[in-house]
Amino acid sequence: MLPSSFEYASPRSLSEAIDLIANRGEGVRVIAGGQSLIPLLKLRLASPSLLVDINRIPGLNHVAESGDFLRIGALTRIAEVEASAIIRERYPAIHDASEVIGDPLVRNLGTVGGNVSHGDPNNDMPAVMLALGAEFVATGPAGERTIKAGDFFLDTFTVALKHDEILTELRVPRRRPRTGGCYLKLEQKVADFATAGAAVQVRLDKGDECEEVGVGLTAVGPTAIKARKAEGWMRGKTPGEGAAVREFARLSAEESDPSTDLRGTSDYKKEVVSVLVSRAFTRACERARGAT
Ligand SMILES: Cc1cc2nc3c(=O)[nH]c(=O)nc-3n(C[C@H](O)[C@H](O)[C@H](O)COP(=O)(O)OP(=O)(O)OC[C@H]3O[C@@H](n4cnc5c(N)ncnc54)[C@H](O)[C@@H]3O)c2cc1C
Repeated sequence: MLPSSFEYASPRSLSEAIDLIANRGEGVRVIAGGQSLIPLLKLRLASPSLLVDINRIPGLNHVAESGDFLRIGALTRIAEVEASAIIRERYPAIHDASEVIGDPLVRNLGTVGGNVSHGDPNNDMPAVMLALGAEFVATGPAGERTIKAGDFFLDTFTVALKHDEILTELRVPRRRPRTGGCYLKLEQKVADFATAGAAVQVRLDKGDECEEVGVGLTAVGPTAIKARKAEGWMRGKTPGEGAAVREFARLSAEESDPSTDLRGTSDYKKEVVSVLVSRAFTRACERARGAT
């Protein structure tokens, strides 16, 4: 099927893009890598009157630690995240996710900003950003504002960006000593979307107690889920206690709300969440102990 007709603009600056969007009102869509939007256009599930292509705007593609954050430009390709040494060495949960998003063709074009802005509960980056306590920078006619990842995913395909805002940067709290993370995903075949996925981020104190815990879940609810009860319960506990890890995983699964579909029943997916959280937590703790 062919998309319905639309106008196309390719601004050379952020301010030009924002003016274009603000002047046009509703009916405008930003396009980045097109890996989610183009299929929607072709199925006519989206019929914008104007596409604003942000690929020629400078300053939206970077990965760097500065100040209190790891800053990832919204236009950074998933493949660039995958190849980034700083992410592989210091933010391994992001690296894990970048390796399992689609196939190399999708990763070469798809952007991190598009992955979270799309609001698809089956996308992998949202859960990681929830576990890491990230925040997102939205830029619009009134300037910049930051939105916590925990407040960003409102409903399926609905995020907290206003229609005239562009996501410009993702900010992840800068890694502290003895912090580790992991993202695991069960897929039916290579390059598939997740049956379920789990991101865990943990900071251990010198006595191996969990000082900070973050959990994000993929494909088991209307949005990516931050498992807040499980996070709170695990804080102050010691990972060595097998029973504690089992309870932490059980609580995480309890916070999921998967639907039964071709990938499995709701009960099966909850069981998968429990197993993935337990394994991701164990791996995150190993990485935290090895991190300086
Ligand atoms: C074959 C295939 C397999 C895939 N497998 C996976 C997978 O396993 N895991 C996974 O997570 N994803 C998967 N995807 C989905 C896709 O890779 C991601 O959603 C991708 O990262 C989207 O980024 P994009 O830059 O292509 O976004 P686009 O398609 O350009 O845009 C997606 C949405 O986000 C909005 N948007 C994009 N950038 C911005 C911005 N900076 N500010 C405001 N709004 C913005 C657009 O308006 C649109 O609504 C797959 C896609 C394909 C085609």
